[in-house]
Parts: sequence; C-alpha cells; structure tokens
Amino acid sequence: MVARTIPVDPFDLVIFGATGDLARRKILPSLYRRRQAGQMPEGARVIGAARSKMTRTAYQKSIREALEEFVPEAERTAATVKAFVDCIDYVAVDVTGDGGWQELCGKLRPDVVRAFYLSVAPSLFGTIAEKLAESGLATPDSRIVVEKPLGHDLASAQELNAKLTRHFDEQQIYRIDHYLGKETVQNLMALRFANALFEPLWNAQHIDHVQITVAESIGVEGRGGYYDKSGAMRDMVQNHIMQLLCLTAMEPPARFEPDSVRDEKLKVIRALDPIHVDDTVRGQYRGNGSAGYLEHVENPDSKTESYVALKVQISNWRWAGTPFYLRTGKKLRSRLSEIAVIFKEVPHSIFPEVSNRKGNALIIRLQPDEGITLRMTIKDPGPGGMRLREVPLDMTFADALGDEFDIPDAYERLVMDVIRGNQTLFMRGDEVEAAWAWTDALLAEWQDSPDRPQSYDPGGSGPDDALALLHRDGRRWRDIPG
Ligand code: NAD
Repeated sequence: MVARTIPVDPFDLVIFGATGDLARRKILPSLYRRRQAGQMPEGARVIGAARSKMTRTAYQKSIREALEEFVPEAERTAATVKAFVDCIDYVAVDVTGDGGWQELCGKLRPDVVRAFYLSVAPSLFGTIAEKLAESGLATPDSRIVVEKPLGHDLASAQELNAKLTRHFDEQQIYRIDHYLGKETVQNLMALRFANALFEPLWNAQHIDHVQITVAESIGVEGRGGYYDKSGAMRDMVQNHIMQLLCLTAMEPPARFEPDSVRDEKLKVIRALDPIHVDDTVRGQYRGNGSAGYLEHVENPDSKTESYVALKVQISNWRWAGTPFYLRTGKKLRSRLSEIAVIFKEVPHSIFPEVSNRKGNALIIRLQPDEGITLRMTIKDPGPGGMRLREVPLDMTFADALGDEFDIPDAYERLVMDVIRGNQTLFMRGDEVEAAWAWTDALLAEWQDSPDRPQSYDPGGSGPDDALALLHRDGRRWRDIPG
C-alpha cells in the first residue's frame, strides 16, 4: 500500500542544472514517485533548464533513462512513466548569459505555483537569482530552492544569503538539508512532542549524555578535490549533524509551524558553548590494501579531516552538564546514522549488578533500517534468583507498519513541501549563519594548531583518540556494527 498523500496545487517547477547528477538521481525520480503516488496533479509541469542545447524530446528521453537507472523496476509502469515524461519540458539556458531566458518566461504560466530549483554549483545561485529578477520571474509568490554547500564559512554564507534575499523574501527561500526530510528525523519530533512519556525526562536531570553518529563506509573516492577543501566538519557537522542536534535539544515549539520550529533550533545553536580544541578529535583514514585519504587528494600534506569527534556542551537550563558527543567519518566499519539518548542510572539500585550494564537508552536510527529502539532492563527469565538483563524494545518501522510502510525518499517530501509552501523542514538563513559562526571558531583553532589529524584504519570505528574523548569522562561510544 502506498502511503497517504495530500494533493498539491498545479505547479511549474523549473530545475536549473536539469542534466546534472542531483537532478537525474534524486529530484526527477522523487517527482516520478510522487506522480505514481497520485500526488502530482494533472496540471503539474517540470521544466528542465541547463546549458546543453537539446530538444524537449531528447531531454524527455534522457529522463526516461534516468528513471530506468534510479527507480526500481517494480515501481515503474509504462503508463505512469509516459504521463510523467509528458509533463516535462526543456529549455537551454546558460545562466551566465542572456540566451534562453525569454523562452523560459514564455513557458511559465501566470496562475500556478512557481518554483525554481537551483541544482547547480552555489557560485551560480546569485547570478540565477539576479537573472530571474531581471526577467520578471522573481514574483512575490515564486519560490527558490537551494542546497548545500551553503557557504564554506560565515562570511561566504552571509554573502550567499544577501544575494538570495536581494530578490526573494526569506519566506520564498527553501534551503534543503535532506536529513530533515527523513522520516525518522520527523519522527523524533513526534516522539518528543506527541508522547507524554519522554518529555518530562528529556533534560540534564535524567539524561546522562547524547551521542550522534553519522558513519560512512565509503571514502572520498573521486570526490577528493572537492572534499579536501571541505572536510568532515564543513561537509557533515555544520549542516546535517547540527540539524539533528537541534531537533534533539530544542525546546518544544509553541506550534508545529515553520518559524516556531526554526526559532527553537536557532536558540540551541546560539546556546552552544564555543568548542575547545581539547574536546575535538580529527582523523584521516590510512591506506590498508586500498588507497588512504592522502592518496585521493592533491596535497600530500593535507590536514583536512575525514573523521571528526566532538564533545559539545549546550549552555541552557535544560542541558547544562549533559554533553552531546558528535562523530562522523568516512571509511568506517559500516554505514550508520543514529541519535542515542543515554539515560542516567536509577538513583539507588536494589538489585545485584548486571555485568556490562549500560542503562536505559533511546536509539533513533536514521540508517540503515529506520526505526526506534528503547533499551530496557528486565528480569532474566527463569529460576535462580533475581538477575537482570538488558533487552531492546525495538520498533523497526518496516516491521511495525507492515504494508503501510512505504518510506518516501527525503527529496519526495521536501519537493512537495516546496510546492505546498511549507518551510518547516527547511533551514532559515539565520540558522545557517549561526551554525557557521560556531563552526568557524573551531576551524580557526585547527588552522592554528600544529597537530595533524590522527590516522585510523579503514573499516574500523575511527581514531584511538576518539575513544579516549569519552573514556576520560567514564563513557564509551556505542558500537558501529560490522
Ligand atoms: P553536476 O555537475 O552533475 O550538474 C551541474 C548542472 O548544472 C548541469 O546540468 C549543467 O548543465 C548545469 N550548469 C552548469 N553551468 C551552467 C550554466 N552556466 N548555465 C546553465 N546550467 C549550467 O552537479 P550536481 O551533482 O547535479 O550538483 C548540483 C548542485 O547540487 C551542486 O551545488 C552540488 O554541490 C549540490 N548537491 C549535489 C548532490 C548530489 O548528490 N549530486 C547532493 C547535495 C548537493
């Protein structure tokens, strides 16, 4: 069974960069799935715009091929593919020049939702916003969609925001962080704010610490040039992990509305203590049978981190004294993203000790197998005294929801939210800037430090110093399973 869908209004969606990887692999397959789910109305039109000169028919053919490559066969029917491809048009536009804009204007209808998805390098965002305005397309109800990298430091993020807000109001700008489109991430809000059980315990009095892990098993292969200018802190922590941290730590918003939620996230970022270099670990994976990090990048002395672990403190009443440990890295044992909320021990135990006792924990898994697990302590079954053991109360969504579980890709939800005009799951400009301000301070400390990232074995759980970061606090990281 396909998940319930709320129809959206007819729209014209223009994708700049329509021949690129993101458009072919994510945006168009996501739109196709929404069409198949019955959510894309008859009056919906997608207009591809890119540099290549090509006819509408040739572009439609290339999208058929993209669907064959990126949508599983079981999800494709000839009729839906045809109906979807029929609603696609194409216009050749070199966004740095004047050609193609008039033709694009001629293709847009005046009375439908209008959205421009900038699936191009960020260096072109400002130019496109400018050209849209010059062409009379930056109308008050049009929307513009951009995604990472949204700057590489505070100054560049401010510059980018200024270029976008010169022609579009903040209410028209949709900054995608695709983590926010994930089902489990939204479930974190449902879990916290729709259940009476957790919120009274959701504070420093009851929570010992929080661990957020985004582990990747792949390395930087093929992306070394880009990645070496970025590193794990810019590529993962400043955006995706920061968003997970905010949703875990924020106060309950007054309403589930875009600015209520985003105000609360911003308060968390502003309450982050400046991070001291002693509370950080940088790593670089070494070669071990395969190429190490330094063999994938041009600079043989690069100090860019492919792994980072941080101990973060939030200075407010709810979290004072409860650290958030964050880690992310490439070439680790497996692909895993999770938020683990580790509760404090009972104040006085009347039972004999359990060996290796870890206590209650709530694990919110983003990948693989999206779901939530609550670790409980129960009596070990059988006679022989009162022995305790720890068991998971597991809710893997696919098992719990059965046929109803048809998890949409994050992009499916986010693109439809753009059409609906709902900004709740998109980052506001001030959030992005606040996250960069906090990140920049640490990047500057690293820059000044003579230390190199510690090398770590591929296929493991990261550098030894990362283990020590928790050991010194009497804690340990959760395992990254093999
Ligand atoms: P890509 O290089 O595969 O495609 C770029 C597209 O931009 C092409 O369609 C090209 O024709 C078009 N283009 C380039 N210069 C142009 C010009 N002057 N006028 C008109 N069109 C022009 O890039 P991509 O991987 O699709 O990524 C696009 C953007 O999305 C980048 O900013 C990237 O960082 C970001 N992004 C990509 C992914 C991904 O999975 N690919 C994920 C997150 C963010």
